[in-house]
Amino acid sequence: MKKKLTKQEVHTIVSLLDNAYEDVATFLHYSSPYELLIAVILSAQCTDIRVNQITTELFAHASTPQQILALGTEGLTQYIKSAGLFRSKSKNIIAATEMILDRFDGEVPNTMEQLLTLPGVGRKTANVVLSHAFGQDTIAVDTHVFRVSNRIGLVCEKDPIATEFALMKVLDQSMWSKMHYKLILHGRRVCAARSPKCEDCLIHAYCLTYRNKK
Ligand code: SF4
Repeated sequence: MKKKLTKQEVHTIVSLLDNAYEDVATFLHYSSPYELLIAVILSAQCTDIRVNQITTELFAHASTPQQILALGTEGLTQYIKSAGLFRSKSKNIIAATEMILDRFDGEVPNTMEQLLTLPGVGRKTANVVLSHAFGQDTIAVDTHVFRVSNRIGLVCEKDPIATEFALMKVLDQSMWSKMHYKLILHGRRVCAARSPKCEDCLIHAYCLTYRNKK
């Protein structure tokens, strides 16, 4: 049983995925770091399409911290109730907005440490905001990135945070943000959670799960 990919194999897998999938700026619609933060908080257990539908309507009415705060938890809930976990998301967005106004002069903070102090913000959300709103090299690990990177054998970890740190070691820093999206696209289109299309997968010759099954 093969347990680890060689550096050359990792390089080949990254190149194949990079060439196979388009560059994605983000799946979410936003026009400011604050809007992006809200969209990413809403995206937990909710499709990007649904989030974009919600935020199109919400941001047309309220898009700044002051305007969202003026809606209050109940008012915000009316806009986001088609999202999963909408009650806790509404509470978290209002609490995070108060903190942004009180502690960060109304601006979304641009460090991991500060972002993690905001209610409803974990490392995945913070990494997406740091990458897209502030151009920092990060690799956000969502359910697809976690599943796919561990199946391929890029990393061998038991949770998303350990996966994030392991991916940062194995991938060139210039590829971190890019590979977040390429791994998501590969997970959505080929390496699905329940029935991965291994025979059609362009990296099956290198994938540890596939090779160890054969
Ligand atoms: S070979 Fe199968 S398990 Fe491996 S990356 Fe491709 S689809 Fe996923």
